[in-house]
Amino acid sequence: MSSLSSPRPLNLDLHDLGVAQLAARLAAGSISSVEVTQHFLNRIGQHAQLGAFLALDAEVSLAQARAADARLAAGERTPLLGVPLAHKDVFVTRDFPTTAGSKMLANYRSPFDATVVSRLGVGPGGAGMVTLGKLNCDEFAMGSGNENSAYQKVQNPWDTSRVPGGSSGGSAAAVAARLVPAATGTDTGGSIRQPASLTGITGIKPTYGRCSRYGMVAFASSLDQAGPMARSALDCALLLSAMAGPDPDRDSTSLDLPAVDYATDLIATRVYGTSANPLKGLRIGLPTQFFGAGCAPDVLAAVRGALSEFEKLGATLVDVSLPLTELSIPVYYVIAPAEASSNLSRFDGVRYGHRAANYTDLSDMYKKSRSQGFGDEATRRIMIGTYVLSHGYYDAYYLKAQKIRRLIAQDFQTAFAECDVIAGPVSPTVAWKIGEKSDDPVANYLADIYTLSSSLAGLPGMSIPAGFGEGGMPVGLQLIGNYFKEAQLLGAAHQFQLATDWHQKAPGASA
Ligand code: GLN
Repeated sequence: MSSLSSPRPLNLDLHDLGVAQLAARLAAGSISSVEVTQHFLNRIGQHAQLGAFLALDAEVSLAQARAADARLAAGERTPLLGVPLAHKDVFVTRDFPTTAGSKMLANYRSPFDATVVSRLGVGPGGAGMVTLGKLNCDEFAMGSGNENSAYQKVQNPWDTSRVPGGSSGGSAAAVAARLVPAATGTDTGGSIRQPASLTGITGIKPTYGRCSRYGMVAFASSLDQAGPMARSALDCALLLSAMAGPDPDRDSTSLDLPAVDYATDLIATRVYGTSANPLKGLRIGLPTQFFGAGCAPDVLAAVRGALSEFEKLGATLVDVSLPLTELSIPVYYVIAPAEASSNLSRFDGVRYGHRAANYTDLSDMYKKSRSQGFGDEATRRIMIGTYVLSHGYYDAYYLKAQKIRRLIAQDFQTAFAECDVIAGPVSPTVAWKIGEKSDDPVANYLADIYTLSSSLAGLPGMSIPAGFGEGGMPVGLQLIGNYFKEAQLLGAAHQFQLATDWHQKAPGASA
């Protein structure tokens, strides 16, 4: 298929409306949730070749839309009521199968919904959003290009010969192509921010613990975090307000902090300064290590362009240093596989997942079921993880990595003494061609250089559209905040998006 990178002019079809705009029309009664849901289901059908969806069930979605319409008819007015979204396929759902992109979980049906899913959904106490289906991802969220899905590759709607990023590649492609107004994603080492960057949408990974991990298929539990992906910071703020919050009975690592209305904060208050100078006083730190030779010139040019917009809004740029940035790759690729090897041990063919058809005894059954169910990348990580945790290697690898992880987190605190927000690229290049890195795991790992350190530190980070690079492909700007500063990130991003229109550009493929 040809390159579809030239932005098309914005018209106002239903699918061009964001979450906030759809919610306003639903609340005013000018459209119904059933109409909106049907419209998006039709678009998903028309763009099936993107490979973004792993599960759809129009009957289920329309029944949810009718439930939302009934709540609207009864006079309920909550910010997300009746707006559709789709979930990354690592969130378990009662109404749709959940595979985590793995053959291991083919046809798996969860008996319960993930906390994030029920908080957003139409059930009791939920925000009233309608689920359009489940979105493709790398197997168990391990990957950077969505090429590790056991089911199908996902195409980048800006150029269908390229990857959408990963692991939340289905979420990113679906939002960018306007198949959904918003989606959930998960980010362990960049999986919300990097695909958001590579597809020209907005995504935020909150502080570790801000959203409950209950019902998220576990990859690396000390890193996994849920977050929203949408076109604008405002839409992300609306979703995050519903997703976030303590879940003490179900996730002991969820933060015991009161829920925040991020969207009202954005609209009602200016985080800094005045209307002419809305970001006056905001100090943006630029880590020298994020602006070196490792980053492609087209990406750096777009990032610098976006930063000069921030300066026009009143922010000041300061140089900071994150000296251990380079070590974040080996540290992450020890710790994440170590945790993964433990988390994936539950897939034994007995309690969950695929079981081999023929086997001789119990250990043969384990061996065959796991060999058949896991793809190459999951298998590689189980082996690396088992190795670094084994007696004799634990101190040399796992313990050492944990110590450096702590130093990486300390470096951020040193940097935050000089700035409020840290900025830089998300990915060292624009989206690469499908197949270009699929046989080279290390090439994929290296592309995570700018997202891993903040994940290891547990800090919130986001990607916002910042222009275009080589091949007309989108480039994202990363903003990293200190702990619990999601509102500050969203506020800065919102002011940037009020002044620029990168986030409103749509790929030609979404026509
Ligand atoms: N690309 C990273 C990995 O492969 C991050 C994945 C993620 O954040 N889930 O592990």
